[in-house]
Amino acid sequence: MLGEQIIKGMAVTAKNFFGSYVSKERLTTVQYPEERLEQKANTRQFPFLVYDGDDWEKGLRCVACQICEKECPPKCIYIVKSKDKKLDYKGQAQLYPVTFDIDISVCMSCQICVEVCPFESIKMDTKFELSTADRFAGLLLTKDKLAKSNSYYQKLHPQDAAESDAVIAAEKAKAEAKVKAAAEAKAKADAEAKAKAAAAATAPPSIPPPATAK
Ligand code: SF4
Ligand code: SF4
Repeated sequence: MLGEQIIKGMAVTAKNFFGSYVSKERLTTVQYPEERLEQKANTRQFPFLVYDGDDWEKGLRCVACQICEKECPPKCIYIVKSKDKKLDYKGQAQLYPVTFDIDISVCMSCQICVEVCPFESIKMDTKFELSTADRFAGLLLTKDKLAKSNSYYQKLHPQDAAESDAVIAAEKAKAEAKVKAAAEAKAKADAEAKAKAAAAATAPPSIPPPATAK
């Protein structure tokens, strides 16, 4: 029948319109900003940098490898590497970012930076109310603004954060086992060298053979 689909569509609209007075499920809009819908678990807006512990500067996981900077499609990440090193969560000396900026006016929330980061350092935030009249400085997030604690991440995306924590714990355990094995091997080698030296010191002096007459 001609116009059947239009009538069906209007019936759905009418059902939602009148139903919204009696059922909250039929409400398709909310009175934002007074009312807000709960964000879905996998909501992603803009990236942030994760740090461990209480000191954001010391605890930043980022080692300034610049992989995210290279892979970011619109090139909105800017990193300057440090000249010195600091210890990471595995106890290894690593470089760190002296500068880490993201221009969120350019960022397209693709999450590629998160996917390529080998250090669980950069994750996606759910914050979206970032509008400002300052087009340049206001939308350029420097590392102090990007730094968020791991407990913030655990609250934001509990499942993903738990997976990250497990990866880091496994890496840490592996690194600790390696250090322990190296220390044990060194202790064994030292003990063997010491025993050899002690044996050499207590051995009777060798008597030279008598000289034969010519
Ligand atoms: S989310 Fe995408 S566009 Fe934004 S900084 Fe990461 S890689 Fe770049
Ligand atoms: S956020 Fe990750 S990928 Fe980007 S520089 Fe830091 S460690 Fe490397």
